[in-house]
Formats: sequence, structure tokens, C-alpha cells
Amino acid sequence: MFGKFSTVLLCVSAALAQEVQLDAKLGPKQAVEIERLNATIASLAQIATENGGNRAFGLPGYNASVDFILKSIENFDDDHAFEVWTQSFVGLFNQITVHNLSISETESYVPQGLIYSPSTPVGGVTAELAIVPGDATPCNSEELLATGANVTGKILLIERGSCPDGTTFAGKVKTAKGAGAISAIIYNNQDAFISGGTLTAPNPDYIPAGLLQRSDGLSLRERVLAGEVLNVHYEQIQNIENRTTVNVFAETKAGNKENVIMLGAHLDSVSAGAGINDDGSGVSLILELLRTLDAKNVKNQVRFAWWGAEENGLLGSKHYTETLPAEDVDNLLAYLNFDMVGRGYYGVFDGDGSTFNLTGPPGSDVIEGIFTKWFHAQGINTTAAAMTGGSDYYHFMEDLDKPIGGLHTGTAFEQDPCYHQACDDFDNVNVTQLYINTQAAQHTLLKLIERGPEIIPKGPSNLTSTVLLGKKVGVEWTHLIEDRHHSGCAVAL
Ligand SMILES: [Zn+2]
Repeated sequence: MFGKFSTVLLCVSAALAQEVQLDAKLGPKQAVEIERLNATIASLAQIATENGGNRAFGLPGYNASVDFILKSIENFDDDHAFEVWTQSFVGLFNQITVHNLSISETESYVPQGLIYSPSTPVGGVTAELAIVPGDATPCNSEELLATGANVTGKILLIERGSCPDGTTFAGKVKTAKGAGAISAIIYNNQDAFISGGTLTAPNPDYIPAGLLQRSDGLSLRERVLAGEVLNVHYEQIQNIENRTTVNVFAETKAGNKENVIMLGAHLDSVSAGAGINDDGSGVSLILELLRTLDAKNVKNQVRFAWWGAEENGLLGSKHYTETLPAEDVDNLLAYLNFDMVGRGYYGVFDGDGSTFNLTGPPGSDVIEGIFTKWFHAQGINTTAAAMTGGSDYYHFMEDLDKPIGGLHTGTAFEQDPCYHQACDDFDNVNVTQLYINTQAAQHTLLKLIERGPEIIPKGPSNLTSTVLLGKKVGVEWTHLIEDRHHSGCAVAL
């Protein structure tokens, strides 16, 4: 392992020597250190281990992660070059404490959770399993009833699929309830492992609902089709309540305050695991950029953000962008996002829309160009990452109309088989890749600090000229599920 490791490092440092020359104008640059990147993700993994296996919003592992970031900056920032603060906000917390599905004492399944599903009564419900006959894919109860299905008082097994409201889960849950079902079990419409999903917000039109893997769903459906009557016991207890959490910020005291370059990574994990690639890797990357910055001599101000409650709906970055005073919005030059940068492909956000036709605000193309040029100069192929809105950049581009960019190494099985699972631990990150991505990010940050205002068009906060992705009905805010055709983070509604 170490052999492979050092070969890559050698190749990168040779290329870097050349890069330093090319960018001599960029001023002093302190080297990114792989040991520090490694130490950060090790600390985050340790925090999860000590706090019930996760660092999720509303739970002790998140608070410990906040303390860790604050302490790391304090330990490092001897000469007080940074202003550091936290911003608290209230988000809707959820925790599934009981979730099981069984057909008999010997046949049971482990359903995956749907965030914001209502609970069943304590002790669960027992009812006949109903299916959708034929090849119908109903998105409302009329369509479902038109198939001849009788689901009243039953538990409906239904395939996941896109509905006109822009969702792939919520539309199915509403359909089931509208037709009289007492619970809905949605099975995936792809063979890929499904680790969870979200209903975006609680809604009286929902019934208790959970997810099954495609193979399990199809085999149960076959049995019902063959005439078997399956009496299913289903129980889900989900606590949903408001909890207060925080974003963490650090910004340089030096630099032009009218051209702020902002970098962000989310500090929370899902509740299923430690979240070391997602997003301990991005947390580690921006912390290392802070440490390697010549903070007292930056030409333009740099602000770092560690976001809270990203996994529950981009809540931290949403709160920040919603409450940012207009003057501060005007002063913001660009936002760079680093969510999952530890294994997979070298994904650069497709700012110019050339691959996915989802173009970022003007200037996003410039940022993409800086990143890709750096990677290509190292002989590293890049993959365009679609800006589908699956991470904290969303509100910066959609609501503030700010140029955005960043890196994202992919959520599909091929890129991260432990995505949103318990195995997203320390060993799930390829620290060499994290190291290379951090160097790419450092290069881009330094370029923006030096030349950002010349190369990035800056618009006022009230820009209305750019319609970015169009107004979506369902905001694609979390990347629980990989959409293989669109790389990057994708929809999970
Ligand atoms: Zn993430």
C-alpha cells in the first residue's frame, strides 16, 4: 500500500515544482501536508467512535466535531490572523429508533429509512401486503385505483419512480395514502444499494413509509402475484423535533472585504455512520487550506465555513444565505464547495454547463477552468460533476446568484461503496486523493485571492438576470442517491 502511495506522491510533487514556477506570481504558498489531512480525518473518525458511531445533526458527535474544528483553529492560529465564530440555527431533527418489517418469525427485512416519515403506532401494524398490478407506475391515487388494486387498510408495496411533483419517494407515499393504505414500502427502481431517502419535510399527506432494496421488493411482489397472501408486520418509530445546531466560520482579518472568497464543507454526517468521506474529507481539506494560507497577507478576504445539518436538507448553508445581510452578499466574490473529496473520480463542478447543461452563475466557468487546468497539468483526468443542487453550494448559486465551483468525487458505488453507510469510516478515504484534491483547491484559492476580482464577474445581490436551473418544485437538496447519468450528487425526494 505504501509503495503505491509514494509513487503517486512523487509524481505529484514533480508536477507541483513546475506548477510553482508557472504561478510564481501567486506569492508564498505553504505546502499542503498529507499527515495533517490524515490526522484530521482520523480525529473525526475517533469522534464518531466515541459518540455512537456518527457525527449527525442533533447528536453528540456533531457537537464534538464543532469543538474539534474550533480547537484546531485556536491551536494553529497563534497570531490571531482569523476571526472565528459560530452561528446557531434551528433545524428539524429526525431519528429513527425502531424500523422493522417481518412476514413471519423467520422472515424479516431491514428497511431503510425515509427522513420525516410519520411513525407507526408503537408495536407496529400488521396488514396484508398489496401491490400495484401490471406495469403501472402511479403517482396519484386515481391512477393507482384505476389499476383495480384494492389497498384499503393494507400495506402497499410500490416501486420508486419519478412523479410530476419532482419527487421519487414522496409522490409514491401520497399515492398510497390517497388510495387508503396504512403504510407504504417503496422498493428501489435500480439494483444499486439504497441506503436511505427523504420526504423533505413532514406532511399530513404521508403515511409511515420505508425503503427496501430492489431485489427484496421484486421477490415479495412475485409472491403476491403468484397468489400468496402475505401478512406483514411493520413498525417504524421516528422522532422528529426541532433542535439547535451551529455553523462554524473562520475568516482572515486581512484582505479586501469587498471581494470575499468563501469555501465550505459540511461538518455533519448522516446518522448511519461516521461520514469520513462524506464529508470528513472536505472538512479536512478546507482546514488544511486555512492552515497553509498566508492569512495576514491575503489580497482579498477568505472565509471558511463548516456547515451544520447539510444531510437534513442543506439547513446550515440555507440559514446562512437567507440571513446574510445584502451588503455581505454584494461583497461575496465566489463560493467553493468541497463535499466528498476522498475517493472516486477527480470531479470538478461543471460550471460552464458544457457536460450537463446546468450552467452556474457567470464566473463558475472560470473556476472550473482553474481547477481542470491544474489537474490536467498533473496528468490527472477530471470528471465533470453536475450542479444538481445536492450540496451546500445550492443556495449560493440559486438564491444569491454567486459564482460557484469546487470538487466532488462521486457518490455511486464505483466511487464510494460506503456512501451514507456505517463503513464510511477512516479506511474509506484514499488520503492520496484527498491530498491531491487539497493541492488543487489550494491552487484555485490562491489564484482567486490574487486575481479573483479581475477574472470573476461580480454582480450585486439582487441580480435577477440569470435563471439557473429553473424553479424546481422539489428542491434537490441532498445527495442520498446517486443518479448515475448525472454524476455528482442527486435527488432523493
Ligand atoms: Zn455530503
